[in-house]
Amino acid sequence: MAKPKLAFFKFTSCAGCLLSVLNLEDHLLDIVGAVDIVHFLMARRETQPGPYDVAFIEGAVSTPHEVEQLKEIRRQSKVLVALGNCAVTGGVPSMKNFAGSEREMEERVYSETWDIKSIPVRGLDYYVKVDEYLRGCSIDLNELVVLLKSLLLGVSPRFRPHSVCNECKLKENVCLLISKGKACMGSVSAAGCGALCPSLNRPCEGCRGPSNDANAEALAYTFVSDLGLSPEEVRRKFQKYAGNTPAFRKGAEAL
Ligand code: SF4
Ligand code: SF4
Ligand code: SF4
Repeated sequence: MAKPKLAFFKFTSCAGCLLSVLNLEDHLLDIVGAVDIVHFLMARRETQPGPYDVAFIEGAVSTPHEVEQLKEIRRQSKVLVALGNCAVTGGVPSMKNFAGSEREMEERVYSETWDIKSIPVRGLDYYVKVDEYLRGCSIDLNELVVLLKSLLLGVSPRFRPHSVCNECKLKENVCLLISKGKACMGSVSAAGCGALCPSLNRPCEGCRGPSNDANAEALAYTFVSDLGLSPEEVRRKFQKYAGNTPAFRKGAEAL
């Protein structure tokens, strides 16, 4: 039987999620035996054209060229996976959307702008249907393994819909928000990282985007009234990783 053809692509991003794929090490060796990786420029120079069984795309869409490339990959792929928060929501690059016009941002970054054409930064599903989402900045390796195994078995993986707080409670961590007055976003952020940051005594920054039941407005008011953050600090927190999402937009615009 022919092995499934996998392809990995990079749009506007830092390459951290693709590096995470390469860091799968032992798992990768097993998986490589079961699939045919036909496009992965960070790992090998040779590429094959589509069609693909599964295409993974890291990164946000920030240029007209990426829009066209994305639509072509979608046409060529049975399953399309948004790999990491840039691809899921626009992620860190989407902070640009809230800092100024396209032209202002291009001139701030480049000395010559005559051949630069940028557009507002979006996640993949702003333009095409996305079949599976791997959240996080960067992605969680356990979730990646679950996804790869599920795809090989022809089933859809079930990821957690609840918030980071649930995982934090299961780990019996002392709550940083309530006990230490730290501006933790765990109550509005999607679980799946195992409450990584609070477990290391650092507040959650919301890198996986909003949980299903996120009440970002309430948390924004708490940050100001109970912790003394300024409205500008709150706005920046909600726009750092997922400012394009309706839930975090409500948090950013609450004050
Ligand atoms: S989600 Fe984070 S780690 Fe992954 S590509 Fe984007 S910025 Fe890099
Ligand atoms: S430390 Fe953060 S993630 Fe943990 S319970 Fe408190 S608010 Fe939730
Ligand atoms: S705790 Fe929050 S910031 Fe840290 S990895 Fe999890 S979702 Fe991201």
